[in-house]
Amino acid sequence: MSATRLSNYLLSTAIRHHFTTSSRVIRPTLLPKASHLISAPAVIPRYCSSSSSSSSSSSTTTQKEYTSPSPSTSHKDSAWRKMHHKETPDYLKQDHDRVFDHNREWAEAQEKRDPGYFAKLSEGQTPDYLWIGCSDSRIPAEQIAGLAPGEAFVHRNIANLVPNNDLNTMAVLEYAVRHLHVKHIVVCGHYGCGGVKAAMTPKDLGILNPWLRNIRDVYRLHEKELDAIEDDTTRYNRLVELNVVEQCRNVVKMAAVQQSYAENGFPIVHGWAFGFHDGLLKDLNVDFESMLEKIQKIYNLTD
Ligand SMILES: [Zn+2]
Repeated sequence: MSATRLSNYLLSTAIRHHFTTSSRVIRPTLLPKASHLISAPAVIPRYCSSSSSSSSSSSTTTQKEYTSPSPSTSHKDSAWRKMHHKETPDYLKQDHDRVFDHNREWAEAQEKRDPGYFAKLSEGQTPDYLWIGCSDSRIPAEQIAGLAPGEAFVHRNIANLVPNNDLNTMAVLEYAVRHLHVKHIVVCGHYGCGGVKAAMTPKDLGILNPWLRNIRDVYRLHEKELDAIEDDTTRYNRLVELNVVEQCRNVVKMAAVQQSYAENGFPIVHGWAFGFHDGLLKDLNVDFESMLEKIQKIYNLTD
């Protein structure tokens, strides 16, 4: 098979695996691996254990995906693409219309309420807060905290992690501290976090493994306390809180944070947790001064 044909085949295979045509409407489906995030069991084991069961089935699937197509299969792929190419925009358009309609209404209302609002917004940003939260769609940072545009620099990822080898998170922190001079850094987790739950599930989650291992490490660091909690939900909630505190520690380990605090007296680091059941933020009362002092015994980067 030529390189071009192979490339076209891989593309069509990828499309088939990402969409289903169960009705006239084409809807994106969750990848098999990602579905574990949704279906992770509520019961959290007292310790983590690895499993290789799904990795074997994964290799079988991969083998099947890369089998050379017959000419008739290629023809079907082409027909599939032609048939559904027309329908896809209709499905996408519904959401886009709703979003753009809302955007227009919002922009008009903002300008009416505060003439010149967007002219001021375009002058630049000087946010006081850097918000590091979970990507969970139910926790829009600005809305739950009542922060207006321009008041918070926001970074979100699965389970609000601050891994020191994650270029994205590190760049956001560096920019927020050294260039935007934020006064507060908030790490905000939430009870019922699917990422935390998935990390405590003894399954191979593919590319998510190295990311979620940061949470397994939090469990290992606090294994004694967590294992002593009998109730599963209580133990899970405590892991959510401990994960927030450990991510605050990771923020405090950064040179930019330590140096800015030594020179300016800010930023201050806070650990909060959001609850779906009441919509409230809980302050985990991270003692920033004390945390910084302990961290600097080993991670002092102020020179
Ligand atoms: Zn989450």
